[in-house]
Amino acid sequence: MDEVKNNIIVPASDYPRVVVIGGGFAGISFIKTLRNKPVQVVLLDRNNYHLFQPLLYQVASCAIEPDSITFPLRKLFSRYTNFVFRMCEVLSVKPEQNRITTDKGSLTYDFLVVATGGKTNFFNLEQVKASSLDLKSIQASINIRSRILQNLERTVITTDPAEKDALTNFVVVGGGPAGVEMAGAIAEFKQHILPYDYPEINPDIFHIFLIEADTRILGTMSKESSLRALTELEKKGVIVLLKRAVLSYDHINVYLNTKETLHARTLVWTAGVTGQYPSGLHNLSDKQNNRLRTDRFNKVEGSDNIFAIGDVAFMTDDEFQQGHPMVAQVAIQQGHLLARNIINILQNKPLMLFKYKDKGTLATIGRNRAVAEIGKIKLKGYIAWLLWSLVHIVSISGFRNKVLVGWNWMWTYFTYDMGNQMIITKITDNKK
Ligand SMILES: Cc1cc2nc3c(=O)[nH]c(=O)nc-3n(C[C@H](O)[C@H](O)[C@H](O)COP(=O)(O)OP(=O)(O)OC[C@H]3O[C@@H](n4cnc5c(N)ncnc54)[C@H](O)[C@@H]3O)c2cc1C
Repeated sequence: MDEVKNNIIVPASDYPRVVVIGGGFAGISFIKTLRNKPVQVVLLDRNNYHLFQPLLYQVASCAIEPDSITFPLRKLFSRYTNFVFRMCEVLSVKPEQNRITTDKGSLTYDFLVVATGGKTNFFNLEQVKASSLDLKSIQASINIRSRILQNLERTVITTDPAEKDALTNFVVVGGGPAGVEMAGAIAEFKQHILPYDYPEINPDIFHIFLIEADTRILGTMSKESSLRALTELEKKGVIVLLKRAVLSYDHINVYLNTKETLHARTLVWTAGVTGQYPSGLHNLSDKQNNRLRTDRFNKVEGSDNIFAIGDVAFMTDDEFQQGHPMVAQVAIQQGHLLARNIINILQNKPLMLFKYKDKGTLATIGRNRAVAEIGKIKLKGYIAWLLWSLVHIVSISGFRNKVLVGWNWMWTYFTYDMGNQMIITKITDNKK
């Protein structure tokens, strides 16, 4: 009786049940491919929306509204006859019982697909974790936006020059695409919003620092693109500090390994991502970056019916001996192939090996400026920016969201007016 009471109720079905944890890029690509196929798909997510993470930095920098990069999962699959959604936090997996437990009850599965993505990696820097802001969720991006605007409101009324300095210093840690795009967007904010919305503040006191431990930013791209991005950022006034690592941060002092100290009331950490998944699978994980080791069919090592796709999956082949990059295209392609392989399993057909097709890398550095690498083709400047804009509009879920983001960008492009400078949640120095 208890057992039944604690179960998550899903409609009865004669089909095998595939439980998917996570409605990110990997999860939704998997489900789309299984549309109305002879399986019951149960999607579990802690949120009721899909999040387009690549544009989080635009929410954080007041360029677009949070709603335009989120899409309701129920709406996304409303026409699917074999789809069930339950909003819950998945806590653990019991592989020997084919059962998962969640904060809302438990559920059995025939196949389990772990598509839980990653979380910010602070590399055990606990003080940095407690004092900084990350950029991994919609709440986090709204927090950054609030922090910037609150700090400016405080700057206007403070008379202490040292505090004024800290309030108007903005530090981004991590020179990957997320950090570069974040720093570039804040530079645009400084140029196009600050002088008009905050005429009391001299823009010259607003400093943006980008800190990278490596010898160059955008380390996964060619040296040419990385140099180009560096030049563009510096032209926009971003102070790029290479070969520096953050050792600690206490809400105001940023301590670097070079013994330098910066004073900043805002530090955004984009320097690392690590896998995340419910407990019960830990002994199956890759120790180095906490992703689940899988074979080339995305089957989690040591299991027959548990699969991992996207950021959480650690799959190697000759070309990707350290695993695939944690990017959306890998997640989408793995989701699609696994869905086809699940059908193959049910039909006793041979399975297809995963082979990643790299469609290229893009990073933007604000208006009209971007770098793009597609195979051997390298693009920069306006053309790369146009391509970046097109790729993102096409990739966002939902026609309404495409229109919203496209309209926002066009409006901002011609008017320089962003219009999202609202402090919706108040955020204190001690609160994330
Ligand atoms: C700021 C930023 C910028 C980026 N820019 C780019 C870019 O320009 N290009 C690119 O290709 N990639 C980019 N990425 C990476 C890209 O977003 C990820 O590779 C992609 O989201 C991975 O997809 P996924 O489905 O594996 O995981 P996610 O998209 O992270 O989805 C995981 C889902 O699982 C859910 N979940 C997790 N754990 C649980 C649980 N225990 N219970 C219930 N639900 C759970 C989450 O709520 C989420 O919906 C960026 C990422 C960030 C953070």
